[in-house]
Amino acid sequence: MTDTTPGDVKVGFVGLGHMGGPMAANLAKAGYQVLGYDLVPAALEQATKDGVTVVGSSDEAANADVVITMLPSGKHVLDLYNGGLLAAAKPGTLFIDSSTIDVADAKSANELAVAAGHRAVDAPVSGGVAGAAAGTLAFMVGGSEDDFAAAKPLLDVMGAKVVHCGGAGVGQAAKICNNMVLGISMIAISEAFVLGEKLGLSNQAFFDVASNASGQCWSLTTYCPVPGPVPASPANKDYQPGFATALMHKDLGLAANALRANGVEGLLGLQAEEIYNRFKQESGGGLDFSAIVTDIRKRSEGA
Ligand code: NAD
Repeated sequence: MTDTTPGDVKVGFVGLGHMGGPMAANLAKAGYQVLGYDLVPAALEQATKDGVTVVGSSDEAANADVVITMLPSGKHVLDLYNGGLLAAAKPGTLFIDSSTIDVADAKSANELAVAAGHRAVDAPVSGGVAGAAAGTLAFMVGGSEDDFAAAKPLLDVMGAKVVHCGGAGVGQAAKICNNMVLGISMIAISEAFVLGEKLGLSNQAFFDVASNASGQCWSLTTYCPVPGPVPASPANKDYQPGFATALMHKDLGLAANALRANGVEGLLGLQAEEIYNRFKQESGGGLDFSAIVTDIRKRSEGA
């Protein structure tokens, strides 16, 4: 893609769910011609209202200069790439996969696209549904300099921060490394709150100390897992997400795969995956991931 005037650029968008729907809407609002496809009729209805031109198949969405995918998992991406999406696109089409998927799958997807004569970047996001709607996502991009430069104007429409992290798959690496820290730090902060409660330390006093000391971190100061100290955190809204436990568990599973595949001694990352897996099984996975503090408190009762 060389022409970056929005009105002249056709963008295929496959996967118009919680994230993809508002992302595609923002591209349409910015003047891009967006051809959208999803398996779910309600997503297509909403996309039409948002100015997206709905097409009848993913292959039809590939009739574009750029094809963006925002799908649940690596299997979905690879099935589509192998199942005709790449073949349906004209040579040199730029494929941007913004789904959160395994690093190995992201590398395979890139290789498949390049072998089919296309260009490709992995560009997973953070910022959640609110960031997708507001156009303030953070994009972590893996791919060549040229392909990054070609993708950037579109990513700038959907996001507020776009970082080129390295070659193919390295965007996904940045995403899972960050979320592994997030999962571990939320467990650490939650264990500290529950220990403090047992020791007669109030939640507010611990917050006041740790938020100005070496325990300070995002899980404490922005997303505090107990109600009170940070009014906007999900703890004050009965742990409605936010970032659901099931999604945190998915990302920790990808991190655990990568730790094992690369022989990294990541004991806390592996343990965090197990802790969130158990919490997801028992809670259904719909609560915000910061509700892990309630699980730790419950398991500590009577001790
Ligand atoms: P979602 O389930 O709401 O959306 C995925 C969409 O893909 C669904 O609408 C589904 O129908 C569609 N789909 C699946 N297979 C398809 C196919 N073959 N053809 C067309 N459409 C197909 O999920 P989401 O919350 O939008 O997340 C999408 C990706 O973004 C995931 O990889 C997720 O891990 C990642 N992510 C999500 C969040 C979040 O807060 N929701 C934040 C960051 C990253």
